[in-house]
Amino acid sequence: MSESIAGEAAAGAVGERFRELYGAEPQGVWAAPGRVNLIGEHTDYNDGFVMPFALPHTAVAAVSRRDDGVLRLHSADVAAPVVEVTVDSLTPGADKNWTAYPAGVVWALREAGHAVTGADIHLASTVPAGAGLSSSAALEVVVALALNDLYALGLRGWQLARLCQRAENVYVGAPVGIMDQTASACCESGHALFLDTRDLSQRQIPFDLAAEGMRLLVVDTRVKHSHSEGEYGKRRVGCEKGAALLGVDALRDIPYAELDAALERLGDEEEVRRLVRHVVTEDARVDRVVALLESGDTRAIGPLLVAGHASLRDDFRVSCPELDLVVDTAVAAGALGARMTGGGFGGSAIVLAETTDVDTITKAVEEAFATAGFKTPRVFEAVPSAGARRVA
Ligand code: ADP
Ligand code: MG
Repeated sequence: MSESIAGEAAAGAVGERFRELYGAEPQGVWAAPGRVNLIGEHTDYNDGFVMPFALPHTAVAAVSRRDDGVLRLHSADVAAPVVEVTVDSLTPGADKNWTAYPAGVVWALREAGHAVTGADIHLASTVPAGAGLSSSAALEVVVALALNDLYALGLRGWQLARLCQRAENVYVGAPVGIMDQTASACCESGHALFLDTRDLSQRQIPFDLAAEGMRLLVVDTRVKHSHSEGEYGKRRVGCEKGAALLGVDALRDIPYAELDAALERLGDEEEVRRLVRHVVTEDARVDRVVALLESGDTRAIGPLLVAGHASLRDDFRVSCPELDLVVDTAVAAGALGARMTGGGFGGSAIVLAETTDVDTITKAVEEAFATAGFKTPRVFEAVPSAGARRVA
């Protein structure tokens, strides 16, 4: 593989650095993973279905509580000294740095009425940032879980996810859905998480590829096209317009069997029609993937991944040349299926392959990128791993 990346950040090293920075033992060490989404893209803000699983890559935080209203933040991955703020000065939208993620979690907990009175936090993460693998959710969830334990708040995983989403939506100012935080908080090893983003009901779906002679590769294209945020916002607005025109609360309410009739009713709203078609067919694909995995027919999900990619490329229009090249090359080289994962416009793609084909496919993708003059992609295996937990 082109470049390996480390799995879980070492809890020992994170605790050691905490002691150097803050002059005392941390009260605990927690870990929260990044994620990839197997299927169900751009459905989470349409009340639809998603199916992420957790990566072995995690954000690890050593944390102690404080009762004097002070919040101190430090990241091993950012070349900057400890940042110190007071919890009552936290203001949404004011912080443009990485510290907005953990501070936003403290803000969201306090806004929800939880008496969090400060903390010392040092963290390190092996989740690649900005690769569409949810390094931001890992950061939020690890801090939320630590504070939940240290302040004995008794919140469940899905509740922590909601608060983290609020932190990212309001404090950081990114209009993300609920998938990433729920995945990081609630996934289980050897499983994908089937999540209904309307009522947050969830089901763990067995997803142990190695036992069946398959692998799932993540190909990080290492590009992030700069217009991605604006385009994401436009897609959200377009989906809301579609729901309004069709008289439903969210596009999730359009059953697959009624898609053609709905498209008809949208008349010459061509762009909205494309968005609606993606969301409705994507929800249906998630349903079918769940059924196939639950009946043990794992290889049969491959064509659904490819169909999902085509829908994101042609209807939702959030792919890019690098992501398309991964998918086309991997499939031509024998992959069972492949698709972009995450928001799009760069970031990562996933490739489902027979174990015996992994090297051939990896080489083909690397060669295709070199020929196209793209950056060398980062390819690694994604083993469905555990969600957030206390590690020390
Ligand atoms: P993604 O979640 O797909 O990785 P985002 O843009 O949502 O991308 O989040 C990336 C941001 O999260 C980074 O720009 C940085 O502010 C923050 N971040 C991620 N990992 C770390 C880390 N180890 N230390 C500090 N900040 C981090
Ligand atoms: Mg993110």
